[in-house]
Amino acid sequence: MAQTDIPQYDAIIIGGGVSGLYSLYRLRERGMTARVFEAGDAIGGTWYWNRYPGARLDSESWSYQYSFSKELIDGWNWTEHFAGQPEIERYLNYVCDELKLRDGIELGTRVKSCIYDEASKLWTITTEAGRRARGRYVIAATGFLSAHQFPEYPGVEDFEGLSLHTARWPKEGVDLKGKRVGIIGTGPTAVQIIQTIVYEVEHLTVFQRTPNWCTALRNKPMDEATRAGFKRDAPQIFEQCNETLAAFIHKADPRDGVDVPKAERWKLYEELHARGGFALWFANYHDVFTSQEIADDVGEFLAMKIRERVKDPVMAEKLIPKDHTFGTKRPPGETNYYEAYNNGNIDLVEVKKTPIERITPRGVRTSERDYELDILIYATGFRSLTGELLRIDIRGRDGLSLAGKWADGPRTNLGVQFAGFPNLFAILGPHNPATFCNLPRCIENNVDWVMHCIDFLKANGQTSIETTVDAENAWTQVCNESAKGLLIGEMKDSWFYGNNNQGGERGHFLLYAGGVPAYRRIFREVETQGYPGFVRS
Ligand code: NAP
Repeated sequence: MAQTDIPQYDAIIIGGGVSGLYSLYRLRERGMTARVFEAGDAIGGTWYWNRYPGARLDSESWSYQYSFSKELIDGWNWTEHFAGQPEIERYLNYVCDELKLRDGIELGTRVKSCIYDEASKLWTITTEAGRRARGRYVIAATGFLSAHQFPEYPGVEDFEGLSLHTARWPKEGVDLKGKRVGIIGTGPTAVQIIQTIVYEVEHLTVFQRTPNWCTALRNKPMDEATRAGFKRDAPQIFEQCNETLAAFIHKADPRDGVDVPKAERWKLYEELHARGGFALWFANYHDVFTSQEIADDVGEFLAMKIRERVKDPVMAEKLIPKDHTFGTKRPPGETNYYEAYNNGNIDLVEVKKTPIERITPRGVRTSERDYELDILIYATGFRSLTGELLRIDIRGRDGLSLAGKWADGPRTNLGVQFAGFPNLFAILGPHNPATFCNLPRCIENNVDWVMHCIDFLKANGQTSIETTVDAENAWTQVCNESAKGLLIGEMKDSWFYGNNNQGGERGHFLLYAGGVPAYRRIFREVETQGYPGFVRS
């Protein structure tokens, strides 16, 4: 293709999920040309790929939708308080149709490289199929849990049964009836799948490395009156979300838990446990994030619940975390997860005690024995936060590669820009509070910031913006220190620290833990002060 035949847009958007759709809408609203390149065969991003049985929101549906359009809110009827994957996928398709976005999206198109050209000041993306497109701006709407990973056990390729990663579940579904199924992992994804499939399979073997502190989801159908109330109150709901630490609907109890007598504390835990969702985490005493005593107390409460619910006391003890405090990893939202272990057809293998040695053609071999399986499910998570960006060969000024730049951990300014990569914006990259977040709230904040930035450039007759190295160093430092004093800062064995990342980020704190309100404040300050820390031209 001659250089002149390469299609050119004002902006290229990589990814057609919640961030990509919103970015496309906002750019078009400004009269800009934009093209979304989406690897999946349909839109939806996370909600397209993660279609495993039981996949469901852990944010309340009515707080999880886009907030910017009353028409969209009024025109959609959530059927459950915590919508399942099919309903969320339908919702995103509804948005795509209502906003007439489809003609701006190329499906089945994975971006392989994204290269900056100094002379033209344009980015060129090349797809895996070898097609190219150019854009002045690039919005990496690639998600932070997109690059799924298989564990590094020998023999992963050898299994002769059906191997499945939860993030690549077949669209046509999988017949699990009468099958001996194994699942590796007990994170939020695994919890949802285990509690759903245990009643269907012949036998389920769960390979657990670390049990998690799960919180009760309490999903229920949504009746018309409740739905109407949420539609009416939508502006206040979104406002309230933006005022909380992680943009969930739950407001923290302002009291110091340590000053409240234990019996009274446990009364609150009972209420929050009954309320469901992340109430036990985010509506708890605000010092649940900082006080070992309070986090341990919530752990003791949940351990009591687990012991009440799991009939076999030995099994119950295996399911109670012993090596990390409540709230230091994202708690899975569960629905009868613990009861699943009473079903008689389920085994729990503690792989820290009897490590997995290899995957064999017939199943899984631990140090103790072989487990024969028909189906092996990997619920082993993602190369968190950096994985999807680094899967693309991104090269900025002077051929600088993002992978090289981040070899010793990510460096960003505000989690949005990287020095040496002009006009490249990440929506859910590292150093962002979005990791904790009720995502559409954070996505709207982040995309809106990028749009304001582009408006500002335009108003000043400029077309390029790039963070300075100093500002990038300063923000990276802010992020590294943002977890100081928080219990999550001390728990290095989580994907917040890239613990499972098969790359160079292990041990680096990958988020901004200062919370959504602080981040929004910083965004506003940078905007109103004319983008200090960024060079515009
Ligand atoms: P994850 O939280 O990273 O969990 C991965 C699981 O696999 C962990 O139990 C991990 O054990 C285990 N694992 C990884 N490598 C292993 C190995 N080599 N051997 C044995 N076990 C191994 O991933 P996820 O469950 O997919 O969830 C990721 C995030 O996605 C969540 O935190 C949440 O933010 C989001 N999510 C949300 C929902 C929702 O309700 N909306 C549902 C699913 C996921 P260790 O703990 O020991 O590392």
